[in-house]
Amino acid sequence: MARIVVALGGNALGKSPGEQLAAVKNTANSLVDLIEAGHEIIISHGNGPQVGMINLAFTNREGIEEMPFPECGAMSQGYIGYHLQNALREELVKRERLVAVAAIVTQVIVNRDDPAFTNPSKPVGSFYSKEEADRLSREKGYMMVEDSGRGYRRVVASPYPVEIVEKDIIKTLVEAGKLVITCGGGGIPVVRDGHTLKGVAAVIDKDLASAKLAQLLEADILLILTVVEKVAINFRQKNQQWLDRLNVAEAKKLKEAGHFIKGSMEPKVRAAIDFSSSKDGRKTIITSLGKAGEALAGKTGTKISK
Ligand code: ADP
Ligand code: MG
Repeated sequence: MARIVVALGGNALGKSPGEQLAAVKNTANSLVDLIEAGHEIIISHGNGPQVGMINLAFTNREGIEEMPFPECGAMSQGYIGYHLQNALREELVKRERLVAVAAIVTQVIVNRDDPAFTNPSKPVGSFYSKEEADRLSREKGYMMVEDSGRGYRRVVASPYPVEIVEKDIIKTLVEAGKLVITCGGGGIPVVRDGHTLKGVAAVIDKDLASAKLAQLLEADILLILTVVEKVAINFRQKNQQWLDRLNVAEAKKLKEAGHFIKGSMEPKVRAAIDFSSSKDGRKTIITSLGKAGEALAGKTGTKISK
């Protein structure tokens, strides 16, 4: 039996509320299988499409004030957490496992002087014309960039997660055997300002926040569930090769050689390096949702260990 932090990718969630409600049933089924196999799991998840959708819903709406980005992140944690909580409870009840499930609104501290803030890279929200983009950067101080020929978009920083604010309550619930959903969307980014924790417009990578969470909980395994069953080198090229296992040194080397696309596979490998090098015996497995059980049994997925 292992303690496993499971980081769910966007594909486990779907795009609209209806799609998401259907997707989480399947997700809950796979996750409860892991519990039935005797593992202790803690769940984290992404929020890219969802936070974008929430942000859009409050943009350019007559008579409705724009929703600040950290608040959009908080809403996405509630919305996704609700669906996961609901679906997991149902699956647990069906299998006569009386485990309480709770999604925790989670703040994650980032450094105000993180270099990411001087070089925002993560596009969020809707597309604008050049004129609108110029006006937004003048009036609101937003950083706007052209996004692959589709128009201008706001970009925010993607800073490194330093500390999980709700760590004590997360630990307490996990130790008490409860099923916890936390660090949704990488957590709501906050910076310290005296006694205050101030929300900032930024996006923390959920893979990196999950690695932090796994270290905090002294997990044995970080299980990153995404679209692909394995990590590849020479991805989408003729000489593409799927990898079964890597050690941290090899992972670092391949990462530096540019085998993992920034913003998708690269943060997963970085999270794997962070977690797997943090203590002997810890490992990270990257695979797809449907292959979680098989990957834990060593039959598929890419395993990264020290
Ligand atoms: P998630 O929502 O799970 O975080 P992402 O889209 O961010 O998913 O990242 C997973 C994607 O990374 C895969 O679907 C794949 O297209 C892409 N990817 C980039 N580089 C690689 C690689 N070297 N090996 C496998 N997949 C890769
Ligand atoms: Mg991702």
